[in-house]
Amino acid sequence: MLTDTHCHLYLEQFAGDIDDVIRRATEAGVEKMLVPGMDLETSRQAVQLAETYPSIFAAVGYHPTDMQKFSAEDFDEICRLAERPKVVAIGEIGLDYYWVKETEKRMEQRQNLLPHLELADKVNKPVILHLREDNDAESGNATNDLLDILEPWHKTLTALKSHPGVFHSFNGNLESAQRAMDMNFFIGVTGSVTYKKNESQRELVGKLPLDRILIETDSPFQTPVPHRGKRNEPANVTLIADKIAEIHRTTREAIAHATTSNANRLFGWEITT
Ligand SMILES: [Zn+2]
Repeated sequence: MLTDTHCHLYLEQFAGDIDDVIRRATEAGVEKMLVPGMDLETSRQAVQLAETYPSIFAAVGYHPTDMQKFSAEDFDEICRLAERPKVVAIGEIGLDYYWVKETEKRMEQRQNLLPHLELADKVNKPVILHLREDNDAESGNATNDLLDILEPWHKTLTALKSHPGVFHSFNGNLESAQRAMDMNFFIGVTGSVTYKKNESQRELVGKLPLDRILIETDSPFQTPVPHRGKRNEPANVTLIADKIAEIHRTTREAIAHATTSNANRLFGWEITT
């Protein structure tokens, strides 16, 4: 059984055929899918999908590039949504210095991240982290700022300490991955690991222990080879699993087993109807 721990199924790209998308995922062996919100409206949509489909679970929060929409009042509603049983994480949250260049707006991202981290601790649900550097560098200020915020937070955790969250679509270097894994974070691998140019990412994935990896499609984005140019969907986790299997010189089954048990450990989820 496979798991897709990151897909944005509420986006308009899926409006016409969501039932078919979920059916194809099930046929491909995808047992569970996690849909993270990006603001209040999409968090509500994620929860609604999760409460409609047994195999879908949700996360709620403000994406760092959507902070212009953040308000204390709306965040109260995020906190209420976070209590619902099919919400298994807070996210996607984090820092994005690729799209956001102004010092003040980057500061706003860091400030608004803090109540999300508090919320995760309070409701005992892990965080889904988005991290993107200026110019897509492998490391830099965004990585350092995020790790500097997470490390003191992690020290204060109790129940979440052993499984605080995942670095979604991780594109950094081994040193940052190690700092994250030292705090028991998981590392999310997307279809970008199949792209010809991403040799350094494959090298990194080869060095990650299998008990730290999660597979995510990031649908409808980051479509893996050979479907690049088309809409991505959760059934494509198989292609990412195959690439990780190739890198680790093992089978798709072994990768499916490892990453699904990692996801189970992180989210503690069960199929509920
Ligand atoms: Zn995302």
